Amino acid sequence: MKKSIFKKLRSIVGRKYCTDSETDLICYSYDATNLRYMPEVVVFPERMEEVAAIMRLATEERFPVIPRGAGTGMTGGALAIKGGVVLVLTRMNRILRTDADNMVAEVEPGVITGNFQKVVEAKGLFYPPDPSSAAYSTIGGNVAECAGGARAVKYGVTKDYVLGLSVVLPTGDCIHTGVETTKGVVGYDMTRLMVGSEGTLGVITKIVLRLLPLPETVCTMTAVFDHIEDAARAVSGIIRSGIIPRTLEYMDQSAIRCAESYLNIGLPVDAGAMLLIETDGPKEMAEMEISKLCALCLSYRARSVHKAKTPKEALDLWKARKAISPALFKLNPDKINEDIVVPRSKVPDLVKKIDDLRNKTGLTIVSFGHAGDGNIHFNIMLDKSKTSELKKANVAVETLFKYTVELGGTISGEHGVGITKLPFIRLEMSEAEIDLMRRIKKAFDPNNILNPGKIFLHA
Ligand SMILES: Cc1cc2nc3c(=O)[nH]c(=O)nc-3n(C[C@H](O)[C@H](O)[C@H](O)COP(=O)(O)OP(=O)(O)OC[C@H]3O[C@@H](n4cnc5c(N)ncnc54)[C@H](O)[C@@H]3O)c2cc1C
Repeated sequence: MKKSIFKKLRSIVGRKYCTDSETDLICYSYDATNLRYMPEVVVFPERMEEVAAIMRLATEERFPVIPRGAGTGMTGGALAIKGGVVLVLTRMNRILRTDADNMVAEVEPGVITGNFQKVVEAKGLFYPPDPSSAAYSTIGGNVAECAGGARAVKYGVTKDYVLGLSVVLPTGDCIHTGVETTKGVVGYDMTRLMVGSEGTLGVITKIVLRLLPLPETVCTMTAVFDHIEDAARAVSGIIRSGIIPRTLEYMDQSAIRCAESYLNIGLPVDAGAMLLIETDGPKEMAEMEISKLCALCLSYRARSVHKAKTPKEALDLWKARKAISPALFKLNPDKINEDIVVPRSKVPDLVKKIDDLRNKTGLTIVSFGHAGDGNIHFNIMLDKSKTSELKKANVAVETLFKYTVELGGTISGEHGVGITKLPFIRLEMSEAEIDLMRRIKKAFDPNNILNPGKIFLHA
């Protein structure tokens, strides 16, 4: 990048917040995919006006800008695959207001999701989206990816809580989308278009979020199964039962073993699968529902069910669930992680297919996830330097993607396309649909400078 551009960037954000030192560039060259692309410069704006000035400069000088939150993305969305400037939004981290009367909050994109949850919960309010990365990921990143998480089965995903946005367009123009009222139908729904756009249409600089009242009680239970098919059938049975659990998480045997080896908390390592289930609401109702779900799991041949007796016990179970992802690296150095979703009645078919693939290929496949909404994360743990293993894994991924689409599902429920799923989007989208998206991208970003090369090829 030309020295003159670097100087201008420094004059916009201040010397301290614009760097091209190799150490800094390395720190912002990766995300949770383990892929690595070096940016040329990293900037840390603090205000919307600075973001706008950076985008105007990028338009003038035609360099790529890649918005970035905490870099926990699973599909390479925040990577500088074409060099340019990584725009880190973590300094824009203020909760601007929480309005209990209207049940809304306004935040900057760099607020850490878990911190925001705690702040509103202290006021008796509830922000349900809860990606397992909530302790690190930013609300801006969650909005850009339309993050899901364990509570989606009852409460939906990030898009269901975004009322409006402030956005800096690639040209440097600023727009505001949405309304704060519970209804509003003037013009196209630009908020929905922005949510999940993976940083390709605009830089989100402010977010108005819908809140709910904090549920009075949360009850937590586990159900342990000898056979994964029974656990999967229990998931479908629970969905049909009329009780909507707050969470309905699934772990196969390898996932249970990984979590146990990481935490040593006495998880049933000989089980075929385990479900982690929660209900919430008024105390009596949540307790009655969890008892009914215990009975229901037993009727699907659970070998045991257990209700958490204390909040600490429930917390430990969640620690186990959240430890799976990092613990996987004990198995092998590399991970291919896919977050496929099928209609919930098809979870047993999907789980069986994953098991068949595991047996047929001999690959180390670990599956777990938000089974209550049909979202199973399957992870192939491998050593990518072993070419034959990598080839086998890639074939397994494609086989599973095709099967998922055949079942009426989607190849990504929450991680987005980024670069890792880009080669597969034709499995579920037609040429005409991709072409329309390309034209939308062009309308927002005529010079293709904002996060180029993500989701689909833009040219
Ligand atoms: C251990 C672990 C568990 C996870 N669990 C879940 C889960 O349960 N559910 C789930 O949905 N995801 C999960 N994820 C994935 C990831 O945490 C989410 O995609 C999250 O939303 C990314 O947020 P981030 O702040 O890290 O964004 P980044 O990774 O920095 O960026 C992600 C994308 O958003 C864009 N972006 C970021 N900020 C902005 C902005 N202000 N304006 C415009 N574009 C922006 C980037 O360009 C990029 O395309 C998990 C990840 C890890 C590592």
